[in-house]
Amino acid sequence: MGFDFDISKYHSGLSSCRALLAEMDTLYQELDAKVAGVNDPTACRACGRCCDFDAFGHKLYLTTPELLYFAHHVAQPFMPMTDGVCPYRIDGKCSVYLYRFTGCRIFQCCSSTAAQSDLTEATIARLKQLCREHNIPYHYINLNAALNCTAPTDR
Ligand code: SF4
Ligand code: SF4
Repeated sequence: MGFDFDISKYHSGLSSCRALLAEMDTLYQELDAKVAGVNDPTACRACGRCCDFDAFGHKLYLTTPELLYFAHHVAQPFMPMTDGVCPYRIDGKCSVYLYRFTGCRIFQCCSSTAAQSDLTEATIARLKQLCREHNIPYHYINLNAALNCTAPTDR
C-alpha cells in the first residue's frame, strides 16, 4: 500500500519548507510540554515495547509535516520497516528521539487514553492547518507505509 507523495519536492532549500520546519520545531516543543501535563512522566519505563506494534497490538500513524520534519533531520534513505517493529528502535531505545512522531510523543501505556486522544485530535488539527498554510498535501500515513514507500532512491 503506498501513497502518492513525492518527498523530494520538499527539500529544506525551499523557503516554504524551512518555514514549515521552524513551525514543526515549535509544535513539537509545545506538544512535549502538553504531554508532560497529560502523562505521568515517571510512569514510562522507556522499555521500548510500544515500538513493537504487532506485539503491542497498536498502530502508529503520522502526517505529512511530521514526515517532512523526520526526513529533514534523519539520514536517508529511511530504514525500511520489515516487520511490526519500528526500525529506529535500536537496542530497545528510540534512536531518533528528538525527531520522533506525534504519536510517539503522546502515547504512554500507563496514562489516560482519553486525554491522549484529545491531545492527538488537537495536534492533528494543527498539522492540517500547517498543510493548508504551506500548501502541502495532507496525508495520514501508517508508519510502515511512510518508511517503506518514501525511502528515497539514489536517482
Ligand atoms: S509507554 Fe509503556 S510500553 Fe512504551 S516505553 Fe513507556 S513503559 Fe514501555
Ligand atoms: S520513532 Fe522512536 S519512539 Fe517512534 S516508534 Fe520508532 S523507535 Fe519508537
